[in-house]
Amino acid sequence: MSVAKVGINGYGTIGKRVADAVRRQGDMEVAGVTKTRPTFEARVAAAKGFDIYVPPESVKPFADAGIEIAGTIGELYGKVDIMVDCTPGDVGERYKAEYSAAGIKAIFQGGEDHSLTGVSFNSTANYRESWGAQFSRVVSCNTTGLLRTLCPIDRAAKIRGAHVTIVRRAADPGDSKGGPVNGLEPSLKLPTHHGPDVQSVMPWLNITTMAVKASTTLMHLHAVAAELERDMDSSEALEILRGAPRVRMVSGKSGIKTTAEAMELARDLGRDRSDMYEIVVWEDGVKAVGNRLYFYQAVHQESDVVPENVDCIRSMCKLEEDASASMAMTDRALGISKG
Ligand code: NAD
Repeated sequence: MSVAKVGINGYGTIGKRVADAVRRQGDMEVAGVTKTRPTFEARVAAAKGFDIYVPPESVKPFADAGIEIAGTIGELYGKVDIMVDCTPGDVGERYKAEYSAAGIKAIFQGGEDHSLTGVSFNSTANYRESWGAQFSRVVSCNTTGLLRTLCPIDRAAKIRGAHVTIVRRAADPGDSKGGPVNGLEPSLKLPTHHGPDVQSVMPWLNITTMAVKASTTLMHLHAVAAELERDMDSSEALEILRGAPRVRMVSGKSGIKTTAEAMELARDLGRDRSDMYEIVVWEDGVKAVGNRLYFYQAVHQESDVVPENVDCIRSMCKLEEDASASMAMTDRALGISKG
């Protein structure tokens, strides 16, 4: 398979970004995207030249809205090697049955449980585990962020235990469905599901998490505390984090004191949709004391999983055996560099 034909099911926050990212790669192409309603996003997809496929009951609403469609979702299955399922969490089970019946591969997102696919994906930690798989799952934005930094640290100096406090964005910037406007909402189900989700990729990692929802839409913030098997000084920790793929070091000294400035940096970099694909780590907030390591990182929830979806397609469709080579290709196409 030299060029993988990719379908995107669910052209929302994640789906529209994955569609654009796939389009930028040389070894895969977008065969079509699905929409359930003739919204402004459907019009933009059509204007961008994506073929739109809809459920049978949506054919008439799309015709009434004057948006041309290429067929029904079922017809798209016959044109793809792999579907990237970016539908909201919990409809995956139904679609998995359809993908199975059509004999195609599919990637699910972090809103689905690990048990749906039995294998979960992160480019840094376990690229090869999805090699040739029919189904895999790209873990959530927070889990992707934790794997990007904790995996390289664990490889360098085994992590005995980690605890992470996650300050979560209340909603995505394009959402108007609400969240705390004037307050902080602690997650009362403890420890939160994020730790077990990290373990779906690094099962040996002893990690617990707590989470607080905050009235911001820009990014999540993680306060990480890890106990290592051996002592480490701050300069070694910095070297590991600087070398970690898709991790961008910033500093308060250079004017990035909050997630607002981190996102301003993404805008200045001229990325598609001002996305910050990398996990942002504050250089001047990395501190190692004996065998304990502390740092802060920020996660752009709308986009950090996008490069992982591209790499996951390469692994599942057997386009590139080497994780680093795939990541380099993806990063070049998306303008991700260490600069
Ligand atoms: P979204 O609501 O922005 O987009 C979902 C899209 O799927 C919408 O276009 C919607 O119209 C469409 N859709 C709804 N029901 C459908 C159905 N039955 N069949 C086909 N399409 C349908 O959601 P999102 O934020 O892009 O999340 C998608 C997945 O990605 C979820 O699993 C979520 O947990 C995960 N995820 C979200 C984020 C985030 O911060 N937004 C980050 C990482 C992972």
